[in-house]
Parts: sequence; C-alpha cells; structure tokens
Amino acid sequence: MLPLGLYLHIPFCRSRCSYCDFNTYVGMEDLYEPYVRALCREIRAAGQSPHLLIFSAAPRPHAATIFFGGGTPSILQPAQLGEAIRACRETFDLPGDAEITVECNPGTIDLRYLRALRSEGVNRLSYGAQSADPGELKLLGREHGFADVIAAVEASRAAGFDNISFDLIFGLPHQSLDAWRRTLNAALPLQPDHMSLYALTVERGTPLHDWVRRGDVPWPDPDAAADMYDLAEDVLGEAGYVHYEISNWCKPGRACAHNLIYWRNEPYFGFGPGAHSSSIRRRWWNVRRPADYIARIGRRESVEMGAEDIDERTSRGETMVMGLRLLQEGVTYARFAQRHGVEMRDMFGEQLRAGQEKGLLELLPDRARLTLKGRFLSNQVMTTFV
Ligand code: SF4
Repeated sequence: MLPLGLYLHIPFCRSRCSYCDFNTYVGMEDLYEPYVRALCREIRAAGQSPHLLIFSAAPRPHAATIFFGGGTPSILQPAQLGEAIRACRETFDLPGDAEITVECNPGTIDLRYLRALRSEGVNRLSYGAQSADPGELKLLGREHGFADVIAAVEASRAAGFDNISFDLIFGLPHQSLDAWRRTLNAALPLQPDHMSLYALTVERGTPLHDWVRRGDVPWPDPDAAADMYDLAEDVLGEAGYVHYEISNWCKPGRACAHNLIYWRNEPYFGFGPGAHSSSIRRRWWNVRRPADYIARIGRRESVEMGAEDIDERTSRGETMVMGLRLLQEGVTYARFAQRHGVEMRDMFGEQLRAGQEKGLLELLPDRARLTLKGRFLSNQVMTTFV
C-alpha cells in the first residue's frame, strides 16, 4: 500500500493579494474555532471512509506527510494546528518524523509562535516571500516587506526549524531582469532549504486582471519571464541547489516529500473546503465555502461536492505527465510497473521513441526524463501521453 499524503486547507487570510484566486476568505475570524473543530471531525471521519478500504484494511492506514496550505495556515494558533495534527495521528499511521509543513505569511509570526508550532510537531515551514522589491510586493498586495522575511527566517532557525522553503514570483509587470536578480540574491543569504519559483499568471476575477485589462498595468511579458527562469536556473545552480522539479529547487535531500506524492501520482487525501483527494481510481473534492463546510459537518452530512472515476489508461498518462515534471527522477520504469502493473515501454513505447528522436526525452537504463530542450517544450511532450 502506498502511504497517503494529507493536505489540510486553511481557507482564511488577513487580506486578499491582488493576484490571488485561491479558495480563501478574509474577515471570517469568527469561524476559526468552529472551523478547526469541523476539520478535525472530517479527518477522523475519513478513518471510516470506504475510499480508505482501497488502500488498506488496517485500522489506521499509513500516511507519510501533512501539509497545511491555504489561505494562510499561520493565521491560526499553534494549538489549533496541533489539534488537527493530533486528529491526523489518531486516524492515520504517521511516522514520528513525518514531514509536517505549514505555509506561513512573513510578518504575522514571532519567535514565541514558532516555538509553539515546533512543539506541536511541525518541522517544515513554507514562507510566501514572493519578492524582495517593495514596489513589487505592493503591486502583489502583500502586506509584508522583505525585512519581515529576514526576521521570520531568523526566528524560525532560533525556534529549531531546519527545513525552510520560500515561494518567489517572477515575470511581474514592470519587473526587470536585474530586479529579479536582486530578489534571488536577497533570498540566497537566508539559506532557504527549498525554493518554489512561480511565473505570475493573471487570473480572471482578480484585481490584477482588472488592472491589466484597463491598461493601468502591462500584461506580463512571457519572453521576459523565460529569461528570468533561465537566470534562476544559473543563479540557484551556482549556489548548490538541485533543480528537481520544473518550478522547484532544493538543497540536496530537501525535496518536498508531500509534493513528491502529487508528482509521483500517488494517493492523497485533502481536508477542508475546496480540498481535492485522489485514490487509486477516484478523485473527489469538497464544498468550497467554509460556512457551508462547517454546517454540513455539523449535520454529519458529506462535504463531498463532486467526484470522477479515473480509468487505468488515464491514470497511466497522468503518471507520465506528473512524473516528467521531476527533472532528475523523471518516471522510473520500476515505479511505473509497480504502480500500474504494466511496463512503461510497452504502454508508451511510441511516445517515448518519438520524444527521444526529437531530443525532448532522455531514456536512461532505469527511467525516462525530460532533456534540457524538453523542459522548454514540456507541454508538447506531456500532451503525447494523455
Ligand atoms: S496570502 Fe496567499 S492565499 Fe492569502 S490572499 Fe495572498 S496569495 Fe492568496
């Protein structure tokens, strides 16, 4: 049985960033306490879920990681996050040293908070740093400055955290290559163990979308974003980071264990409003609004809003599409065969050969992975498998 990844959604933020289209809400402080109770009930109820029988008949199925995402998980008190961790440990068999990540907003936490979080068993922090440039942070609607990131990292280290990740965004309107270099150079001395770098996408329904549509702010330039990605590749490579996934770099041995579950197309359970889950054969997702979620849990009703069955052919394609995002690991023949009971080269021989001939795929003795050229044309490669 493959161990599960457990995702816990915290759908609250203090303010709304200009580019954000995540399932998160401001001004719902009254719901924090009932929400945590509802979340713990959903987690405990999952122990009796028929979906779990697919994995194991054991009283407590094996899980490998917990990831608090949002929203802003650090908006809750450490004791509230600790309650949810205890609900996970009661319901699932988690190793003592399981990776437990909390996404944090710099500027909203201090040493006392971080010490308490550490004592609740959290061992990995992911900071939404985004940029070191005050003007860019303002455009993004972030409430913190880069000085807050520095203070948060120092406090985190003092509290005993030795696994810290940063999110940074590039390809912003008006952003120059030099400005992006300055952000990278500001982040590196803080020695993050992991960095996730995302190109800005302008999502419909966000204030940023309105601004660019009105012409107040220029559309992000994809060529400039490509140059910034190349620069990050060079700068982070020189600093000793491994580029292990299309958007993620880490110090050796510090890949995000939770996200590896997604990229390896392994099962995960998501808890909270809008959270998605995936078992071997089925995907399902929860109602989106926190009040609706809490009310349904209170009435002991299902919070599932939708579901789809995944046929074996689709699942095999997804293993390739997700796995090829892993630039070093790729998709190993052994893992594919173990997961699907069929050899990758029998199933996708034609696609693998075509990708190799075009110089987009590298077929090693034990795995297939993207070449350097394939990384830039990854969409073209991925579509051949679906
Ligand atoms: S902190 Fe994150 S989740 Fe919250 S509004 Fe900003 S981008 Fe969205």
